[in-house]
Amino acid sequence: MAIYKRILLKISGESLMGEKQYGIDETRLGEYAAQIKEIADMGVQIGIVIGGGNIFRGLSGASKGFDRVKGDQMGMLATVINSLALSSALESLGMKTRVLTAIRMEPIGEFYSKAKAIESMERGEVAIFSAGTGNPFFTTDTGSSLRAIEIEADVMLKGTRVDGIYTADPEKDPTATKFDEITYDEIYIRGLKVMDLTATTMCKENKMPIYVFDMDTVGNLKKVMSGEKIGTLVKL
Ligand code: UDP
Repeated sequence: MAIYKRILLKISGESLMGEKQYGIDETRLGEYAAQIKEIADMGVQIGIVIGGGNIFRGLSGASKGFDRVKGDQMGMLATVINSLALSSALESLGMKTRVLTAIRMEPIGEFYSKAKAIESMERGEVAIFSAGTGNPFFTTDTGSSLRAIEIEADVMLKGTRVDGIYTADPEKDPTATKFDEITYDEIYIRGLKVMDLTATTMCKENKMPIYVFDMDTVGNLKKVMSGEKIGTLVKL
């Protein structure tokens, strides 16, 4: 039995690179799809947001001379590319998906609405929310918080390559220790870089719990859904 009925899963674009320096690693993509299928088979309703950092980020584009708004639009398009790749990988496993875009671009995806998203998930399709919020100066973390709140998910799962939230960056500081649970306020006070502050604040104001876990280890998504405490829970 799954502990959550409906989830919003955020996957970073960067994780899709796997061992590569850029773009999409098919092995990693396939592993993610297989993990998602495992929890769909448990009867969970699934909404997904994927980042685009493996292809383009507006902020780093701006540092190279790109107009920020155009750069962010390029970043949003990158999330659409990743969403199509995930949709394709899931469908090759026999699943049904629906790509919803925050910017109109039929026939690549349908224009997002809450009603379409709920309808899809209730039919057992995986709803993939692409193009972030549709606006520049936001991130896919913010897009995830927004969609999680809108679709009334029980939790926002943030799948990363680290197995939770630590007192400091564990990849840089070997003395860092992991939290099993933490409050939104403690994230601010300690200056922890879990998600950007806009996304964290939206979750706090709407009492949306966040669960941070290592999604790169195959099988972990199912563990989270089965109630195993392998990551960090963020709550009020
Ligand atoms: N982006 C945006 N508005 C949004 C979501 C994303 O402008 O609502 C752009 C922004 O340039 C961002 C890029 O898309 O850098 C890719 O998203 P993100 O950096 O969140 O991807 P991730 O870090 O998860 O790979």
